[in-house]
Amino acid sequence: MENQVHKVVIIGSGAAGLTAAVYAARANLDPVVIDGTMPGGQLTTTTDVENFPGFPEGVMGPELMDRMRQQAERFGTKMIFDQVLEVDLKSNPKKLKLGQSEIQAHAVVIATGASPKLIGLEAEKKLMGRGVSTCATCDGAFFRNADLIIVGGGDSAMEEATFLTKFAKKVYVVHRRHELRASKIMQERAFKNEKIEFIWDSAVDDILSEGKNEVTGARIKNLKTGETKDMKIDGVFVAIGHVPNSAPFAKQLKTDENGYILVTKGSATELPGVFAAGDCVDHVYRQAITAAGMGCMAALDAERYLANLGLDD
Ligand code: NAP
Repeated sequence: MENQVHKVVIIGSGAAGLTAAVYAARANLDPVVIDGTMPGGQLTTTTDVENFPGFPEGVMGPELMDRMRQQAERFGTKMIFDQVLEVDLKSNPKKLKLGQSEIQAHAVVIATGASPKLIGLEAEKKLMGRGVSTCATCDGAFFRNADLIIVGGGDSAMEEATFLTKFAKKVYVVHRRHELRASKIMQERAFKNEKIEFIWDSAVDDILSEGKNEVTGARIKNLKTGETKDMKIDGVFVAIGHVPNSAPFAKQLKTDENGYILVTKGSATELPGVFAAGDCVDHVYRQAITAAGMGCMAALDAERYLANLGLDD
């Protein structure tokens, strides 16, 4: 184990983690950020971000995250490209076991975000990366002239369906109800797009591969009538929400029934010196700007905690 005890370690490098890093670094707390398995977080898998204040023309998600990273590094944040496997958050200092090393810190900010939810089909797992995807921005370009399915009725599904029409011949949105959850503006964009067709009150019951190692079709079930039909399809994009990345902490911290970390005052968890921010906490707002705001709160809370213990210099 590294002998040095850091003042604050931030776990996660999405909007919450990097904003916490900017604030902690500017407060001379020499923060260390553990990058995690997806450096930059979910915004790196999105395209135009039109609602992050300060970018009237919009900004691409990966560029926004790159700028946040540069801003954090400018003030001395140290980035470690690794992931947290186990934690002891009750000891003092707190101990974090990473893939390649172990580190210690007086304060910890958990900003591990959330990961895409899956439908739960056997074929979905088997064909992941072979026609099944949870990231249109990452994989859309592989599907030129293809017939695709998007599962979901939220903003992500509308955004991804619209994005995929740049490449695909046809995009079918399969949604389990007859009403979308997505915001009006995103709905309208999708409704106007001639390449998008909606299959309402329906679910993907199976993903077909006809003995090949790639998606060749999908079995769609009408949830009202129970009828099923097979469609010839080249790819299935799943956009049905997310699950919080709280597994390494769940034994030591309280979570709700869906695994979201519970915070009490501001960003404080029930353990002294452990703070949480962003999508691993928040299942209501889940925006880049709210995650960033929560990251700021966590850094300020950590700073006050360290100052009270005289550990801030
Ligand atoms: P979401 O809002 O939770 O929507 C998930 C969708 O998937 C819902 O339509 C839901 O159906 C459906 N669904 C959930 N579980 C399912 C299952 N097991 N099988 C089939 N369908 C299922 O998630 P999201 O679209 O990822 O959006 C998350 C947050 O990010 C939201 O706050 C959203 O506004 C935000 N976001 C914003 C933008 C943007 O503004 N550019 C883009 C993407 C996301 P029901 O409707 O029936 O529950």
